Amino acid sequence: MTVPDPPGQDADVAGFLAALGLPGLVDVHVHFLPENVLSKVWAYFDRAQEHYGVAWPVHYRLAEHERLDVLKGLGVATFAPLVYPHRPGMARWLTEWVTAFAAATPGAVPTATLFPDPDVVDYLGSAVEAGARVVKAHVQVGGFDPREPVLRDAWGLLAEAGVPVVVHCGDGPVRGAHTGLDVFAEVLAAHPRLRAVLAHAGMPDFDGALDLLARHPHCHLDTTMVGTPFTETFAPLPPDWPARLHDVADRVVFGSDFPNIPYAYAEQVRAVATWAAADDRLGVPFLRSVLHDGPARLLGLPV
Ligand SMILES: [Zn+2]
Repeated sequence: MTVPDPPGQDADVAGFLAALGLPGLVDVHVHFLPENVLSKVWAYFDRAQEHYGVAWPVHYRLAEHERLDVLKGLGVATFAPLVYPHRPGMARWLTEWVTAFAAATPGAVPTATLFPDPDVVDYLGSAVEAGARVVKAHVQVGGFDPREPVLRDAWGLLAEAGVPVVVHCGDGPVRGAHTGLDVFAEVLAAHPRLRAVLAHAGMPDFDGALDLLARHPHCHLDTTMVGTPFTETFAPLPPDWPARLHDVADRVVFGSDFPNIPYAYAEQVRAVATWAAADDRLGVPFLRSVLHDGPARLLGLPV
């Protein structure tokens, strides 16, 4: 079977999934936040030109129920609503908020977040016990050092429990005080069983991300914003990217950053389809794995 025509617009995504024989898409990197936090995030993107040097018009600036309808219409069967704090003392209540959100929202899996708070092991442990399927750690926005001693037991707890953690530790779209894959590599070295998912495939250090996957069999990467026309302008993929995915194909999972993306969701699906079509060894099995089976396995869902 050859790779079906990639979706040109959002209305084509569900048909594309059906052509692949998939029951739906599993997206490990979606954001839902309390309204007051989300409005601050959107205000930040409104001034993206000054923060990032590039305009970032949020494409899905809609009410919460409308955003959920968009995901449903796209054929997103399951998604991880990720939350993240930018200051101390915020991760516990964000985690409590998202736990309640997931319980009330069909298709959403329970998630949690972390920050080097003195009580991090306490709230993270509760979230894991309550069934959190994935955790978000945002090293750039949080401005913390992932090697902080107070986090040692938190990473250990996640490694022990086998709960994956989506880590934004790359230098894109802007460098943070403690970003860089070399920094997070030290966490992985100390916790080799940690199921870390390198958000944005480590953007812009795609080589570094593939190196970490080669060294750590539990390490994954997500596709979030990777290879879209928007991102290619400032963080282009290496030309041999599709070929290099072959060895790690089962650890590449679909993520989108919905709703805070400056383009249509279909563009992310199209990027992944382009990689699949570019290398004969990838093709449809790779697409089915990235869009569904890989992320489903990661989140502990039936495949
Ligand atoms: Zn994100």
